[in-house]
Amino acid sequence: MTTNQALFERAQRVIPGGVNSPVRAFRAVGGTPRFIARAHGAYMWDAEGTRFIDYIGSWGPMILGHGHPAVLEAVQKAALDGFSFGAPTEREVELAEEIIKHVPSVEQVRLVSSGTEAGMSAIRLARGATGRSKIVKFEGCYHGHADALLVKAGSGLATFGHPTSAGVPPEVVQHTLVLEYNNLAQIEEVFATQGHEIACVMIEPIAGNMNFVRAQVPFVQRIGELCTQHGALFVFDEVMTGFRVALGGAQSVYAKLIPGFKPDISVFGKVIGGGMPLAAFGTSRKIMQHLAPLGPVYQAGTLSGNPVATACGLATLKEIAKPGFYEALGAKTQSLVAGLSAAAKAAGVPFAGDSEGGMFGFFFASELPQNYNVVMATDKERFNRFFHGMLDRGVYLAPALYEAGFVSAAHSADDIAATVAAAREALRSA
Ligand SMILES: *Cc1c(COP(=O)(O)O)cnc(C)c1O
Repeated sequence: MTTNQALFERAQRVIPGGVNSPVRAFRAVGGTPRFIARAHGAYMWDAEGTRFIDYIGSWGPMILGHGHPAVLEAVQKAALDGFSFGAPTEREVELAEEIIKHVPSVEQVRLVSSGTEAGMSAIRLARGATGRSKIVKFEGCYHGHADALLVKAGSGLATFGHPTSAGVPPEVVQHTLVLEYNNLAQIEEVFATQGHEIACVMIEPIAGNMNFVRAQVPFVQRIGELCTQHGALFVFDEVMTGFRVALGGAQSVYAKLIPGFKPDISVFGKVIGGGMPLAAFGTSRKIMQHLAPLGPVYQAGTLSGNPVATACGLATLKEIAKPGFYEALGAKTQSLVAGLSAAAKAAGVPFAGDSEGGMFGFFFASELPQNYNVVMATDKERFNRFFHGMLDRGVYLAPALYEAGFVSAAHSADDIAATVAAAREALRSA
């Protein structure tokens, strides 16, 4: 038995499925998960000492690569001053100022510890601010595992969604409407019939939890208009895309294409913590007035704005705000997708890939899917063979077809070339 197998067996005795977050268990792709011992720069080493080029980056946060010296120093220094006080600190203020500086739609933020918490709180705020109950989400978008968001579409537009998890009573999701991503007709119809009851529309503007699917520009624009007309709030879940696809997040990408566009509420996580448990939600000062202690919408957290986590996030944001950072990261990520595409072409395998900043996705399909059902119809078996072919060759991709990939500043041109070379080989037998 290998060390990874032994650890997995041991883990399964004391942790359900052997993991603390389901996708880590390799259920979608099969095989034994690698237990990671350490990471540095663009690489991770497992418990057996095998090195992998890491394209997960902790599912997005490690945009500078692992163990960036400036971040390490900030975290070590902060740790010496204390782990947690349960009282305000200057560093929280600095991090809030730093986030706001780069995201013009946000005037105030509240810091929390996970993307789930941030998304859940954003919805409570939207409901509290509007006095309405209904929320709209899209199939294939993930906004964390809050009860009201674990829901899939019902049989028709008029019917409510069904829970996607046991333990979520149907009554809890009765106010959640689930529509098809990029389907303009559906969102028009829902607003025409129920617009006055909708508190918010929540979206992953570039959906990274169904691999990589962009919300089409007219779709985003129209939702913005409908929200404004009907007094609903447009919530951009930028937990993945924030500070990842651009310094100003996906909203800055759309603002370039839709004059004057901005979401009402933004949700952040992943990169803003630099690998520590940290997330945030933010909006205008006016809407934030509804939040406790100023207003009646309750929200709190023992470890919120944690001093070590904020030090990590702040050091990360300072590095990525340096001139040229996203140009270099974006070009590198594009070269990876182009290389994979060429490798697939050489192997005669249908391939469609896309990227924005340091986030990418690819499908074994002839064109990029526009919604969840089409993503799910792409070639899963080939993806799984490819995943293992790459893993065997020292390249760690996300272990599921429906996840995005991430490139960091630490990935070198040689790392990209080695990845493409591995893909050429892996695709021959995939
Ligand atoms: C990861 C993610 C979340 C959940 O964040 P956690 O920190 O895992 O709770 C929410 N929304 C999006 C878009 C995400 O990618």
